[in-house]
Order: sequence, then structure tokens, then C-alpha cells
Amino acid sequence: MTDRYAVIGNPIAHSKSPLIHAAFAQQTHQDLQYEAILAPLDGFSDTVDSFRQQGGKGMNVTVPFKLEAHRYATELTERAEIAQAVNTLKFEDNRILGDNTDGAGLVRDITLNLNCPVTGKRILLMGAGGAARGVILPLLQQQPAKFAIANRTPQKARDLSQQFAAYGQIETGDFMGFSGQSFDIVINATAASLNDDLPELPAGIFAPDALAYDMMYSTVRTRFLQHAAQQGVQQLADGIGMLVEQAAESFYLWRGIRPDTQIVISRLKS
Ligand code: NDP
Repeated sequence: MTDRYAVIGNPIAHSKSPLIHAAFAQQTHQDLQYEAILAPLDGFSDTVDSFRQQGGKGMNVTVPFKLEAHRYATELTERAEIAQAVNTLKFEDNRILGDNTDGAGLVRDITLNLNCPVTGKRILLMGAGGAARGVILPLLQQQPAKFAIANRTPQKARDLSQQFAAYGQIETGDFMGFSGQSFDIVINATAASLNDDLPELPAGIFAPDALAYDMMYSTVRTRFLQHAAQQGVQQLADGIGMLVEQAAESFYLWRGIRPDTQIVISRLKS
């Protein structure tokens, strides 16, 4: 019988996950079906219950359900427990494993696909929402020289620095609070790009040879990447690589096989 998987969110029509997982399944000869499921905003657990009852084997979880998925899981991986957010569920009998593959996806994209080591670098993470929360631990585990979180509401960045204090030192502040400092990797994990917006950034925030990384992906260059290019940054990347890499991590958790991500990234970029 064909195994069933799905991505659940609201909205969900825009999701590229069905395309990505169909490509992974074809390439690795896995007999599976992957669909997109729109859940009502107050109907996450009912929708997942029903998918499980129909024999569903696993799900990806996207906005706005990552915190609910964290509560729904009966077991958590260390990275999901620490992030307090789940983007991957695996169903086995009554066991529901929750994982968070966002951070591993980002780190693989930056270090392997973009060939930019994080170890020893100065990292600025912009934003303190769900996406930021999922990537802090995997980034800290790479042992950067410095790690900072800038957020419009600085208290949220401070809360995260306390939550992750056992894993490394984190500087926090609002964006202009980092005036006079430079970073080797600046990651935009704010939702500003979704509204074609950009938080005001201090001049000189990008070190020479910096990488500017926007977690958002789009057919046109985001405001953040446009700004970085105007500041002379040459290494620019959007979140397509992260999207495919986090999907590959989920696929590995479900199927025990690591798909070739390069082909899929190239296809989505073109
Ligand atoms: P959240 O809503 O959880 O977080 C929003 C964050 O953005 C908060 O820190 C908020 O600041 C900040 N923010 C929102 N608008 C502005 C603005 N105009 N100026 C400055 N800061 C702003 O969103 P997510 O964390 O879930 O998603 C963030 C981004 O990451 C999205 O673009 C999403 O598409 C992308 N993403 C990409 C993934 C990938 O695989 N490539 C995976 C997951 C997410 P405040 O706290 O002050 O409100």
C-alpha cells in the first residue's frame, strides 16, 4: 500500500512541499503519496487525528501550527523540545514523534550548498519568531565566534537568549542597537519581507565578504537582499535551499534515505 504523507497549514495553497517530496520519492524510488492539507485555524488536532486514522504516516507542519504540533507530539527530539516548535510529525501506532528540521536545513544550506562555514563566524539573526526559534540551537552548535539576535521587540530576543543560555552566549537588542558592529553572516528571519518591508539596519552591519541570507524565498529579490546588494554584499541567498534541505531532513526521518537536494533546488530556482 502506498504510504501517505502531507503538509498541514493555513494557508497552504502556496506550499512547495508536495512538489519537493514528489521529486524526492521519484528519485529514491519510494512508494509514497504527499498532499497539502488546509486545516481550519481551530482544527489542527482534529485534522491530524483524521489523517492518522486514514493511515497517514507523517506530516510537515507550517504556519500557524508549529506550536500546536509541539503539544500534539507524544515524544520530541532534543532540537524540537528546545525550540518548542515542531515542523515534522512521524506516526507509528500510538506514538507521535515531533521533530524540528528547520535549523538543520538552514545550516546544511549555508555550510554545504553555499560553502560558507558558520564555525568561528559572527552571526546576526534578525527576528525572534517561530522561524528564528527553530534555527538557534543548530547555529550555536556550529560554534560561531559571536551570536546575536536583533528584533523589533527586543524583549522577545532577550527571552530567547535566556531560553538558549545553556547552549551559548547570545547578544540581543533592537536593530539599531547593533550600530558599530559587523557580522559575517546576517540571516533575516523576520516576516518583514512577506510585506515587502525591511527593518532599518545600521550602516556597516555587513562585514566585508559577508553572506546575506533571507529565509523568505520569492521569484524576485527581497527588500533585504536588495538592501544588502546596495551595501556591497556579494553573497546573497534566499530560503529556497533551506526549504528543500528541511524537507530532506523530514524525508530522512520518515524513510531513512537522504535524497539528492541539489537537483530539486536547481529545479525550483529555475
Ligand atoms: P513569525 O510571525 O513567527 O515571526 C515574525 C518575526 O518577524 C518577529 O520577530 C517580528 O518581530 C518580525 N517582524 C514582522 N514584521 C516586521 C517588520 N515589518 N519589521 C521588523 N520585524 C518584523 O514568522 P516566522 O518566524 O514563522 O517566519 C519568518 C520568515 O521566515 C517568513 O518570511 C517565512 O516565510 C520564513 N520561513 C522560511 C522557511 C524556509 O524553509 N525557507 C521556514 C520557516 C519560515 P516582533 O517580534 O517585533 O513582532
